[in-house]
Amino acid sequence: MNWWKVVGICFGAVGILAIGLLIGHFGISTDTEPKWVKDLAQDLDENFIKQFMNEVNNENIKENLRILSKKPHVATSEADEELVQLLLSRWNDLNTGLDEAKEERYKVYLSFPDEKTPNNVRVLSPEGNVTFQSREREVQITDDQKDPNIIQPFLAFAPNGTVKGKLVYANEGKISDFQYLANTTNLNGTIAIVRYGGTGRVNKAINAAKFGVIGVIIYTDPKDINDGKSDPMDTYNNSWYMPPSGVERGSFKVNFGDQLTPYYPAKEFTYRIPESEIQGLSHIPAQPIGFEDARTLICELDGPDAPDNWQGALGCRYKVGPGFRSALNFYFSEVQVNVYNNRTIRSSANVMGLIRGAVEPDRYILYGNHRDSWVHGAIDPSSGTAVMLEITRILGTKLKSGKWRPRRTIIFGSWGAEEFGLIGSTEFAEDYYSKLRDRTVAYINVDCSVFGEFNKNPDFSDPV
Ligand SMILES: [Zn+2]
Repeated sequence: MNWWKVVGICFGAVGILAIGLLIGHFGISTDTEPKWVKDLAQDLDENFIKQFMNEVNNENIKENLRILSKKPHVATSEADEELVQLLLSRWNDLNTGLDEAKEERYKVYLSFPDEKTPNNVRVLSPEGNVTFQSREREVQITDDQKDPNIIQPFLAFAPNGTVKGKLVYANEGKISDFQYLANTTNLNGTIAIVRYGGTGRVNKAINAAKFGVIGVIIYTDPKDINDGKSDPMDTYNNSWYMPPSGVERGSFKVNFGDQLTPYYPAKEFTYRIPESEIQGLSHIPAQPIGFEDARTLICELDGPDAPDNWQGALGCRYKVGPGFRSALNFYFSEVQVNVYNNRTIRSSANVMGLIRGAVEPDRYILYGNHRDSWVHGAIDPSSGTAVMLEITRILGTKLKSGKWRPRRTIIFGSWGAEEFGLIGSTEFAEDYYSKLRDRTVAYINVDCSVFGEFNKNPDFSDPV
């Protein structure tokens, strides 16, 4: 081959490549995208998002919150069932509802205090007289606290029993805390008072039992939640800090979901394991109390000073015990923990709402929140549901107008019995495991949708 032929071929190739690049660059117009590409991108329409945001009405959210938190609605209670009906009626509304809404029920294992025999913590003199008893209910500061349906302070699934022994203060109930005490004190047969924080609620009792402790009392230290404020003048309803008699209720178990049907949905027909085979429970009684009652117990303790990082804001120097100081009210006294909880199986509903996707109906976006609360639940969880209902109203209205449908399927969930250990949502996941595994694109969870910086001077003249 001649050399000029080689040069010619090279120039020719470069020229063709350059023309190709130019065609690629200028030739493909963005205006000629096929329809399916536009369909796929429709939800990214910024106008839609703007329009949606303009339609959010804060007055609706406020009214939703008022309705949702009007009554205490612990899981499976009458008030909880009323909220099931409320969600169904909103999501089935002809003009503002979704494509479909239904309830899905599970028979779940729960635990409640005995109304007639309230749990308590007592101090017993050497003669057996009761010289102190913790409050069986919180002080009623406002009218809504007078509701007889407010569940008494308790720890769900804490075992029943009456145990008595010398009191020790064990900080947060971590293994290292009990180890520290055990270096100098025989913990066998003692009752430990611990504050919330540091480790999971039930772990405090599981850890305690390993050191021979026979009962646990849990309280919330004002240092940990109230910026150290404990005086009634500085707490609710003079501020939003927890009042001295306020008690944090909670679930007292390690595992999520229904405990009698691990890995399976708790349907009527599902095999249930015997209660004795449940894992992750405490085997010693435990009861939560307010910091007002905790102060009475902790500030009279004897023994060496607790380490500096164990000190809280009850207004005295914390000692570790065991037992009470001489010359004070409780000298030689012991502490008794009395727990009378009932474990029971109840029907709990998830409420599910559906908007079918236009392009990828078998791809799911899930958006959920639990519905049950320990008491009124204005923040946890109703603030989240109040917003969710406004979102479904706006999307439902667009849907019913026939002008909009999302690319993928959106599934809304209102979970039952979350406070007892994420039960409703776990049963849902166990029920639909294979579909969820293959088709779920994202899950958005909302719960407390208001949580802000502490306001040092809150204005409580217009509480919402
Ligand atoms: Zn919650």
